[in-house]
Amino acid sequence: MPLLKPTQLEEAAELLRGGQVVAMPTETVYGLAALAMNLPAVAKVFKLKGRPRFDPLIVHAASMRQAFELAADVPPLAYRLAESFWPGPLTLVLEKVAAIDDLVTAGLTTVALRVPDHTLAQELIAAAGGVLAAPSANRFGGISPTRPQHVLQELGNSVPVLDGGPCRRGVESTVVAVCGEQHPVVLRLGAITVEQLSDVLGRPLEVRNSSDQPQTPGVPGAPGMLSRHYAPRTPLVLVERFEQPATGQRVGALSLDQSPVGYTVIERLATAGDLVEAAANLFAAMRRLDEADLTRIEAILVPEQGLGRAINDRLRRAAYDS
Ligand code: AMP
Ligand code: MG
Repeated sequence: MPLLKPTQLEEAAELLRGGQVVAMPTETVYGLAALAMNLPAVAKVFKLKGRPRFDPLIVHAASMRQAFELAADVPPLAYRLAESFWPGPLTLVLEKVAAIDDLVTAGLTTVALRVPDHTLAQELIAAAGGVLAAPSANRFGGISPTRPQHVLQELGNSVPVLDGGPCRRGVESTVVAVCGEQHPVVLRLGAITVEQLSDVLGRPLEVRNSSDQPQTPGVPGAPGMLSRHYAPRTPLVLVERFEQPATGQRVGALSLDQSPVGYTVIERLATAGDLVEAAANLFAAMRRLDEADLTRIEAILVPEQGLGRAINDRLRRAAYDS
């Protein structure tokens, strides 16, 4: 049972309706989904992931209309962003309606909303009969799953996984807060680039993503944005360049396109420097390195532009404190 074929979608929906959790594919990463209005089911999500209750969940809807029913106020800029990027890897943080419980939002007055660009996710939300709260389907702090097998490795056979194959985008959604008259703020870098957002808004955006910027004193960033996250168990260190490791050392190399000599495992994220391809490969490559019994992983950041900013954010967090 752990892997459910797309033809078994109705079975997955039935489990959700019965208060169970199901891992679902999205275009970003696999999510661990529960009906957002079923609080015992949402509590199971936190427990299975080992996720602290202060880290709020993203609520997934099948349409813009269904998503915005959960917002107390939808500023015009939120509409503009949703019209441009939904369905897709953009999460909007808006003032919530009372029907969304504090458990889902970690006590905040705002809720994070997204319409995923994945047919199976949309069909599952429709068949389950309600919006789904779904964080990434990994143990807290670990590497996000981009393949159904990753979910089984993370959470064991107890959680049914709706098999949608590999995730197309491979990094999480970009989280943007749009509150009242204030200009939108990026709280987490992700699959929609800052350039794409500012093109639509017609002006630059503030990025308050904690790994690449010091936090503005007194201004909280996104809750749950911990410095160490997306981390393999093997120590991962960022290097400027690869230098042949001492003989006998088992070291891994992770970069956009380099093949250095003397490394035990080499992961190149893309064939021709393509950052879209690199993002889609990132977490699977980190997992393969983590499974190769290495003493350390050395990684070189990718160009800090477009999707590269989100990739580098994940690499910095994976390296933090290693
Ligand atoms: P995940 O579902 O694991 O990709 O993580 C969801 C992330 O979205 C959280 O860790 C927060 O950083 C962010 N988030 C969710 N809800 C809110 C909210 N109400 N306000 C700000 N950020 C949020
Ligand atoms: Mg996560």
